[in-house]
Amino acid sequence: PVVTRFAPSPTGFLHIGGARTALFNWLYARKLGGKMLLRIEDTDRERSTKEAIAAILDGLKWLELDWDGEVIYQFSRAARHREVAEQLLASGKAYRCYATPDELDDMRKKARAEGRTRLYNGLWRDRDPSEAPLGVPPAIRLKAPLTGETVIEDQVQGRVVWQNETLDDLILLRADGNPTYMLAVVVDDHDMGVTHVIRGDDHLINAARQKQIYDALGWDIPNMSHIPLIHGPDGSKLSKRHGALGVEAYRALGYLPAALRNYLVRLGWSHGDQEIFSTDEMIAAFDLSGIGRSAARFDFAKLENLNGHYIRHADDQSLVTMFEGVLDYVPNGSDLKAKLNDTTRAQLLQAMPSLKERAKTLIELIDGSYFIFADRPLEIEPKAAAVLTDENRTLIARLRAALEAVDPWTSETTEAAMRAFTEANNLKLGAVAQPLRAALTGRTTSPGIFDVLSVLGKQECLARLADQAP
Ligand code: GLU
Repeated sequence: PVVTRFAPSPTGFLHIGGARTALFNWLYARKLGGKMLLRIEDTDRERSTKEAIAAILDGLKWLELDWDGEVIYQFSRAARHREVAEQLLASGKAYRCYATPDELDDMRKKARAEGRTRLYNGLWRDRDPSEAPLGVPPAIRLKAPLTGETVIEDQVQGRVVWQNETLDDLILLRADGNPTYMLAVVVDDHDMGVTHVIRGDDHLINAARQKQIYDALGWDIPNMSHIPLIHGPDGSKLSKRHGALGVEAYRALGYLPAALRNYLVRLGWSHGDQEIFSTDEMIAAFDLSGIGRSAARFDFAKLENLNGHYIRHADDQSLVTMFEGVLDYVPNGSDLKAKLNDTTRAQLLQAMPSLKERAKTLIELIDGSYFIFADRPLEIEPKAAAVLTDENRTLIARLRAALEAVDPWTSETTEAAMRAFTEANNLKLGAVAQPLRAALTGRTTSPGIFDVLSVLGKQECLARLADQAP
């Protein structure tokens, strides 16, 4: 059975690249009826924070990427990592290194001057441990092969070969007894039964180092897929401005989890020219061979269009729920939340078919619904104020009188009344609708005027119109 894992380091929020890695691992496991495990790589005690762990778990939950079993915290497994380092020592695949910081510094300088990438000169590699200085705690290093090649057969990158003479005797256990990241990843992936590693290609060189540890332990290396990183729209490193944000920022910007998943899956993976994938379709279609070798470019406009698609196709009630949910994450969201009650929720639901046609994000949906929540007397935008001339105010007062008789109050009956009014006065509908919109919403753009009339209800409409009396 397939076992994948997502292994973030909790040193910051769940960024967009991490979210994509999680998605790919999740899809692959779900497709093959396997498991996706979650391992928090918190061995760097200085840089790992509780807040980052919470942000990662939150981000995954929001994206609806569930993991199997308990969260595994890497640091809690340090004793096991030490045990494996000792095992390598006992089998002669590792050795104690007593080199001092100064000695290591000299080695590095010398190697750099000679253009070698193998920095450690093997000082303690074959030395008799009896020569060990007293009272100096040693690091444990891997006795890496000096000749030959290390090869990774990567599902995305193909066959990648390193000359062993370029790879160092890497440290497995630091002098302070702490396991290194490289050892911890190998031991954990092995113990967790991970069959497939899917991660960013910034880890490709680590795959070579990890392969050497696997070989020393006589363990099989998992199937490897190193996916190209996400770049900015211009091909450069992804910057904040270009989308290098935490997942929670996308939530606050009003993106739907389904839209973000759909956007992310297409960021580096393709399936013919299909762009829109429901979650089930994604799971069914996902494969490692569809992952491309070149860096994907982040494109906000594309994400926004996709999000608009998901909003238009979402059912009205679930949009009301999402509308309410996102208020916790937007500035001034609590003001609006305070105004949500059965009446305004029903109004929102009624306006939704028209609102969702014009919104690409939940934020635009919130903005479009302002007329429902606006307090009287309405704040009138300058453009709308320009429409409310004395002449138009007089017109509105007369229209108001005509509307008073409408009963029941629906978009159809108000429309009929408006048409009768314009015909009787020999006016064009637009000549009446624009001042009416300005008076009812304080703006010059809104959902269709008859929707506005019916959503607001008779009493509120008549009151807002009276507020604009000449
Ligand atoms: N913890 C590493 C990171 O966040 C990932 C390690 C791995 O996937 O092997 O970049």
